[in-house]
Amino acid sequence: MKTGQRIIAKIEPRFSPFLLLIGRSPIDRYGVFAGETIPRNQRVIEYTGERITNRAAVRRFRRILRSGRRRRFYFSVLSRRWIIDGSLGGTGAELINHSCDPNLFRRRIAGHIFYYSRKRIRSGEELSVDYRYSKDTVRCKCRCGSPKCRGTINLK
Ligand SMILES: [Zn+2]
Repeated sequence: MKTGQRIIAKIEPRFSPFLLLIGRSPIDRYGVFAGETIPRNQRVIEYTGERITNRAAVRRFRRILRSGRRRRFYFSVLSRRWIIDGSLGGTGAELINHSCDPNLFRRRIAGHIFYYSRKRIRSGEELSVDYRYSKDTVRCKCRCGSPKCRGTINLK
C-alpha cells in the first residue's frame, strides 16, 4: 500500500478469487486495490447491478445531473439495449476507477460483464479500467494521471 492510504473495506470473497480492498484513491474518492498479486489474464470480478434499459438509464442520468447531491453514477453498457446500474446490487466493481492506461479490461459473456487483468497486478496497485465513454455524450475530464492520459474519459 502507498503511504497514507486508508483501506476502509474488503470486497466479499465470493465476488472475487483475489483479495480486493476498497480505499481512498488518488484518482477519485474511493477505488479498489489488489490485496495480493493478480496474474495476467485472470477473471478478477463481475460487474453486477440492476439491469435497466438504455432509456431508463438516460432518465436516471438526467435525474442525477439535476439533483446535484448525488453526482455519481455507476452505469456499465451491456448491449445496445441494456445497461447495468452498479449502484444497486453491485459487487464493488462499480468502484473501480477509470484510467486511460488501465490494468483491467472488460469482457461481456452471455449477458454478464467481467473484468479481467490485462497484465500482472502487484499487491497494493489500484485496479482500473477504461470506461470508454462515447465521444457523443457529456465530456468528463480525466484525472487518471497516466502518461497516456487522453484528457477525457470519453473516446476521441
Ligand atoms: Zn486519463
